[in-house]
Amino acid sequence: MSHSLLSDANQRLEKALQYVAVDEDVAERLRFPKASLIVSIPVRMDNGTLRIFQGYRVRYDDSRGPTKGGVRYHPGVTLDEVQSLAFWMTFKCAVLNLPFGGAKGGITLNPKELSKFELERLTRGYVDAIADFIGPDVDIPAPDVYTNQMVMGWMMDQYSIIQRKITPAVVTGKPVSMGGSLGRETATAMGAFFVMQAALVRMNRNPKDTTVAVQGFGNAGATIAELLFSAGYKVVAVSDSKGGVFAAEGLDIPSLRHMKDSTRTLKAVYCKGTVCNQVEHTVITNAQLLELDVDILVPAALENQITAENGDRIQARYIFEVANGPITSEADTILETKGIQVFPDILVNAGGVTVSYFEWVQNRNGLYWTLEEVNDRLEKSITLEAERIWAIAQDLNISMRTAAYVHALNRLGDAIKAKGTRDYYIN
Ligand code: GLU
Repeated sequence: MSHSLLSDANQRLEKALQYVAVDEDVAERLRFPKASLIVSIPVRMDNGTLRIFQGYRVRYDDSRGPTKGGVRYHPGVTLDEVQSLAFWMTFKCAVLNLPFGGAKGGITLNPKELSKFELERLTRGYVDAIADFIGPDVDIPAPDVYTNQMVMGWMMDQYSIIQRKITPAVVTGKPVSMGGSLGRETATAMGAFFVMQAALVRMNRNPKDTTVAVQGFGNAGATIAELLFSAGYKVVAVSDSKGGVFAAEGLDIPSLRHMKDSTRTLKAVYCKGTVCNQVEHTVITNAQLLELDVDILVPAALENQITAENGDRIQARYIFEVANGPITSEADTILETKGIQVFPDILVNAGGVTVSYFEWVQNRNGLYWTLEEVNDRLEKSITLEAERIWAIAQDLNISMRTAAYVHALNRLGDAIKAKGTRDYYIN
């Protein structure tokens, strides 16, 4: 197996190319990121020492518009990872027909080890370093793993200081008080929820007879678990980076979330107070959660969770990828052989960037929407594109993942071709 995430991501492109009549020029353009920036960010720490952090911003493809994508703060961040995430953003924006290309950024660090002051200085330093690479018409960052509204607010403020004008549209996922959109924080989970509801109707299933396991209890994971719980699904397992809990009769997600918010880890929840006493539960590892015999598995943490190593042991009937890239291309083949249906990341988690687009539109218009308007538009867009992907999958007898790439490639192909092709040189 290749160790490069980007070459693994490219496998999906190569597979989809077999089903699309796009010019080879288009394929060649999409195999490489347009521009990758690596920066060193000096940060004065609270104890007076100076530390240098490594940061990245990658603009993968801008054929369809300014590039768009989150910024992640994580010890595992590498250039290869950021390039793959930028690749996925390119296809995700095309799947949802957003007028954006794909980008991603990241800083290699463990944000839990920094104070809030240090995080703010780091964020402002990152913006200083990438200011010429981003902009409302060029590249628009947003939240991702371990970044949030607060971080986006600092980014927008720092960029505005550099530009000497208030520039809300440079970043999405900001606090509402700084021009953020209502519904952006819950948008990734909300989009995934709409796709699941539409899929459930097609599968002729009832939420109450459907068991779910959710890996990851960050913004996306905790919110989707809560939405599913409220809709009557039986959420039997959840986990965070330290481990998880399982209860065959279903967990009380709002209480777990409340406990996690006050104690900061799910681990602290296991044997403390009300939750433990409410239902009999078993403490499980992340690896065990992935292998549970459930109807729906929702990986909502990091990439590379289901691989050639554990693919054979996965028992879920359906997988909805709320995380980016949780399944490797090798595992795709294993799951397909086992008859497990995968709903791909570039559709399932596209609610976040879709509402980011709504935020950008609102910032540029100066007219703000109600929560209902945001969620209605999100539901319409994401279910429409899900139906289109479903139709492609059925027509061509291919997986939902390959169908999603085919769908995106058709749109990307039109945009790339419109800018000029080899046809000029032939005959
Ligand atoms: N980080 C999110 C994603 O991976 C959102 C990106 C955005 O809103 O631009 O889709």
